[in-house]
Amino acid sequence: MSGVLGIDLGTTNSCASLMEGEAPLVLPMADGKYTLPSVVAFKAGRVLVGERAKRQSATNAASTIFAAKRLMGRSFSDPETQRAIENVPYRCIAGPTGDVNIVLDDKAFAVEEISALILGTMKRAAERHLQREVRQAVIACPAYFNDRQRQATRDAGMIAGLEVIQIVNEPTAAALAHGFHQGASRRVVVYDLGGGTFDVSVLRVGGGAVEVLATAGDAFLGGHDFDNRIFDWLVGRVAETHGVNVAEDADVSQRLREAAEAAKIRLSESERTTIAVPFLTTAKGGEPVHLECALDRALFESLTGDLVERSVTLFKETIQAAGLTPEAIQEVLLVGGMTRMPAVRARVAELVACPPSFNVHPDLVVAVGASVQAALLTNDAASAVLVDVTPHNLGIMTVAGLAETVIPKNTRIPTAVERRFSTVSDGQQVVKIVVYQGDSRKLAQNQVLGEFYLQGIRPAPRGDVKIDVRFAISADGTVQVTAIDVETKNAKELRIVRGSGRPPGELERMISQHQELLLATEGADST
Ligand code: AMP
Repeated sequence: MSGVLGIDLGTTNSCASLMEGEAPLVLPMADGKYTLPSVVAFKAGRVLVGERAKRQSATNAASTIFAAKRLMGRSFSDPETQRAIENVPYRCIAGPTGDVNIVLDDKAFAVEEISALILGTMKRAAERHLQREVRQAVIACPAYFNDRQRQATRDAGMIAGLEVIQIVNEPTAAALAHGFHQGASRRVVVYDLGGGTFDVSVLRVGGGAVEVLATAGDAFLGGHDFDNRIFDWLVGRVAETHGVNVAEDADVSQRLREAAEAAKIRLSESERTTIAVPFLTTAKGGEPVHLECALDRALFESLTGDLVERSVTLFKETIQAAGLTPEAIQEVLLVGGMTRMPAVRARVAELVACPPSFNVHPDLVVAVGASVQAALLTNDAASAVLVDVTPHNLGIMTVAGLAETVIPKNTRIPTAVERRFSTVSDGQQVVKIVVYQGDSRKLAQNQVLGEFYLQGIRPAPRGDVKIDVRFAISADGTVQVTAIDVETKNAKELRIVRGSGRPPGELERMISQHQELLLATEGADST
């Protein structure tokens, strides 16, 4: 048995699996279910995780954290962060390193600490089930996660007491779960539409290898957006009929959002559904407002058609980026709860010549794949080799302040590239190297991974001193940059592996705070 957990740390739901010989064992959570809602709440000095946190969210919206994954490894000023924050009832502020902090009971928590509570809950559920300690894990993350987001995922694991032996891309995990690495070579698309994120990847699998040919994604496209469309429509209906704006009240909004999601799920089975929320709120005159309205599939599809089309655009672009045509695709794997929506399935089926396959449980497939990878990593006789690509351009800032790509996106990793630079001014003794990840020509729109200085350069006329800079990306996507003064061999290394920019001792503080939170945690260990 592999002692390493495979974990899908999802935006909406999480799941853990472990290989027992050839077979994956998906670990039951404390309530017997195989997935854990990725929800954490603080209530009256107690910490709730999972189902219990989700259940009480309507009456405690401001202290219930969901979709924290959207904020992982992002800076507070990132426009994507601002977009995410607009849609959540809990409070977020800029943290000490410019990252996002979530405020709960007047205390600020890093996003990693919230994710650590989810990971720790799964770790304990696994240990209870297996009757032994589990220390190591492989955690899956979206293929487009940049280095900082991957590092944040690792840190979350570490805070939860897990040694993260590898971060694996979610689509790669999906292919591994299908056992595709063992069969004949095939070209596969993984279309993953979950609760908060969309991810599409083109893989070549088989013959003992999984190769990601191209990947793209949208961190802000998922089930929540579909729920929000119904929510907005409902808010409009209530305003029209009762003259009340329920969007202003966090608790009422939360109840309405839950009703919207439930209606969306029912519409995957039925053509028409009734949304009923009695005593939703009170009207201006003090009388109760009962919501009751019908929604049919056609209207729901028209409210959300553009969301599906956004995924279609990325789907087509990614196949093209892989150098393939839709006809060349031999399998399409549907992953994520939203792929149960009939319009999504039908639209995907139109795009390729093969019928999309949904024969592996879309909620468990990523965790199972992560555990397959864990077993491969810990088994010396393992034959599967993972070949991945880097999801974003890696580059440096030029003197003109522009972004210059050194390793283009979709390059196979592990990889290393060396570039020679010269000093740009007379007598220059310091070289500053700013490393970024991202796909824009404008540096400000990319993610700065770190900056470092190579000092002690011999004063000389400009251009005289040569500096070799080596950019390396390891198999799990972590970045390392080394600059060497060619003449003196003086080297400086930027190991972005530890590039979260935290002050020293900060992670240790989070680990000990996590221990305190555990003492106040309930819901993880009971239902
Ligand atoms: P995941 O992140 O893969 O767990 O997917 C969760 C998302 O799938 C949530 O937005 C759910 O509302 C959505 N979902 C789950 N089941 C269904 C269904 N039968 N039809 C439509 N959406 C669903």
